[in-house]
Formats: sequence, structure tokens, C-alpha cells
Amino acid sequence: MALSFTHSRALQKRAESLIPGGVDSPVRAFRSVGGDPPFVASAQGAYLYDADGNRFLDYFGSWGPMILGHAHPAVIDAVQKAAANGTSFGASTAAEAELASLVVQAVPSIEMLRFVSSGTEAVMSAIRLARAFTGRKFILKFEGCYHGHSDALLVKAGSGVATLGIPGSAGVPEETVQFTLALPFNDVSAVEEAFRLHQGKIACIIVEPVVGNAGTILPAPGYLEALRAITEREGALLIFDEVMTGFRLSLGGAQEIFHIKPDLTTLGKIIGGGLPVGAFGGRQEIMQMLAPLGPVYQAGTLSGNPLAMAAGIATVSHLIAERATIYPQLAETTRQIAVGVAKEAKAAGVPMSVNWMGSMVTWFFTETNVTDFDTASTSDMARFGKFHRAMLERGIWLPPSQYEAAFVSASHGEAEVDFTISAAREVFANLL
Ligand code: PMP
Repeated sequence: MALSFTHSRALQKRAESLIPGGVDSPVRAFRSVGGDPPFVASAQGAYLYDADGNRFLDYFGSWGPMILGHAHPAVIDAVQKAAANGTSFGASTAAEAELASLVVQAVPSIEMLRFVSSGTEAVMSAIRLARAFTGRKFILKFEGCYHGHSDALLVKAGSGVATLGIPGSAGVPEETVQFTLALPFNDVSAVEEAFRLHQGKIACIIVEPVVGNAGTILPAPGYLEALRAITEREGALLIFDEVMTGFRLSLGGAQEIFHIKPDLTTLGKIIGGGLPVGAFGGRQEIMQMLAPLGPVYQAGTLSGNPLAMAAGIATVSHLIAERATIYPQLAETTRQIAVGVAKEAKAAGVPMSVNWMGSMVTWFFTETNVTDFDTASTSDMARFGKFHRAMLERGIWLPPSQYEAAFVSASHGEAEVDFTISAAREVFANLL
């Protein structure tokens, strides 16, 4: 039976008259997959409920934060209790050091950190700090990695390392990105060449250690080790952007899994338990360059907001307490879904390449092994759009872009695995 989207459609129309595209973040508008986006009315566990009363199995988890599932009782209780005491003070509360201590315990490379209100801010501040600490201007990032929408990081790849950054958005002056180098992911020689060409000028490498923003892409064996060795040799800082992977791939993020100690780490999403939070942290000598101790200015009216800290403490405490069961269970559920869906594609003759790690997974509609942005781009985007819509019609809400990782939560269990695989089987039967 086809789902009705009448109420969502009306809400979208109204929103479009007031908010550009009807959305506060572009990917929510479903432009790359087509069709109208459902409007969410509520959520519980692994499921979203829309304005028409439809139920969807959620595979984007608010783009990462909802690792415990929606409306987890411990998180809701913590937020309600905090709210009863007031919503913001612009002065310090005990909760900030409480969450900071949980993060420092879990992520050993972070000796000190500061909270902000988004991943964008966290990365922007970490870059400023890296430039101040090294006294250098250039930053090196990788194609397909997303680090928020600050000007210097909205960069398209130039053709080759000799080319300086090209603005990735209207409104970003060339001058603003002239110090941003964008290289292919998983290519050590490109990094070596960049450091040769810009000797003594590169402040930092910033990388998603496991990429989520081009779909899920794993680092090749030795790649992250090489980035660590090169930055150390060249006196540049290594920044792991773990806004997505932090507390998701493991308690200590990708750096714990790959045994790499970056100089700085950016976090967000999970550490806010669904409220607006970001954080950046790392070595003490670097972090102490921040105002009021040092010359690097950085601030925020709502930074360390008590509701956000309460949601973060509840989420992270739960993950710490249950770490021995929760991460293996997430990985196993994700493996079953990843492999199960790919098997159905194969049976139906649909070309597919699947990448997954921990609770992140992406099904690319290509036979090419996806190792960087270019190979991710070989995916048949029209086919992905059809797949997305057909799954949505069957009550499964995947991230509405091929270039986004799907997330599994601790509320996804056996029933959800079976439901997903059988829906995929039906969809693949009519996809070609
Ligand atoms: N870095 C990474 C790796 C991200 O995935 C994101 C958000 N998807 C950001 C930074 C930006 O975070 P925010 O949307 O909270 O500004």
C-alpha cells in the first residue's frame, strides 16, 4: 500500500514560502533523490513518525548523534531535569567539566577541550589554533571530506597539488581559500608532493579518518599512519575530524581503532546527544593558546549550554557503561544489514559496492571499489535516487544522498535487519 504524504507536502509548501527550499540544511530537501521530504512529528528508538502518521525505520539518526536511538529515556530525563533549572546562563556550570572529563577519559589524545555549538565551529576553531601554533597559513584537506561550512573549508579540489583551492560555494572569495589545498583521499604521494611544493608552509592536515561525507570510505592500510608520520616530520599538526566517527566507531573514535594520536580532534553529534554541540581538543600546549590563556580568540554565547551538556553526559555515560556490548552489537547489526542488502543486489543483478565500518554503511551503485571521491562518483546517482524513494515508500528512511553514510543505532535489532533486507529485495527486483 502506497504511503500518503499529504500533510508533509502541505508543511513543505508552507516552509518553502518562509525558509529557502523549506529547509534549514540543504540535504533535507531531498533534491538529489527527488520527491518531497516527510516532516517528522516524533521519534522513538529506531523509528521516525511523520506528519501523516507514517512510520520510518531511521538510517540517518539526525546525521549521526542518535547512536542510542531516539528519545532514549536517560537522555530525555537528563534534559528535562536540566531544563527545569534554567536553559542558559552564559556562565560556567559543573556539567561542562563533567562532560569534558568523560571525553578526555574516552579519547586519550585529547588532554583538554573546549565546547562549541556545532561541528562547523569546532573545525573552524581547530584550524585557527593549528595556524597560530605553527605560524603557518596553508591547510590540507581531502576531496569528499566535509568539515562544516566555514569559508576556508568550502573548497573544491583543484586539479593537482600545484593548484590552489577553488571556492566550493558562491560567496566565498578566492582569497579566502587560497591557502586551502584539496587532495585525493588515500593518496600518500599527493600529500608528499604538497609538502614538497609548500615546504614549511602547511599548518595542518585535516581528515575524516573514516570518511562519511562522500559515503563511507575506509582509509587504505597505512594511510593514516603515513599522514601521522609526514605531519610529524614536517612540523605540521594532524587534525582528525571525528565529528561523525567520534564515539561512533568506538568510544575513542577512529583514532582508537587505528592507534593514531592526532594533535587535535574535532567532535560533535554524539557528544551532544541530539542537542547542538561541537568540541575541539588535543594536546595541552596547543589548547592553552586559546583565549583567555593565549592569543587565539574563540568564543560562544551558548557554548557549553546546560541542556546540551546534560544530553551529552547522559549519552556518553551510557556508551561508557555499555561499551563492551554496545559497540560489538552495533558492528554486528551493521555487518548483517550491509552484507544482506548487497547480497540481494547481487541476486537481482544490480551492480553494487558496499563499504562499512562500525555502525556506518554505504551502498554505492557501482562495481568499482570505492576508495576516494572519484570512485564514489562512479555510483549511478539516478539509480540511488530510485532506490531511496522506493525504500522510503516501504517505510525505510535512508540518508537522501549517495554521498552520506547511513547510521545504525543501538535500537536497530534483528527485526530491523530483516525488514531492511526484505524491503531491499523487493526494491531491487524492479530497479533495473
Ligand atoms: N565535520 C564532519 C566530519 C561532519 O560530518 C560534519 C557534519 N556532517 C561537520 C564537520 C559539521 O558539523 P555541523 O553540521 O554540526 O556544523
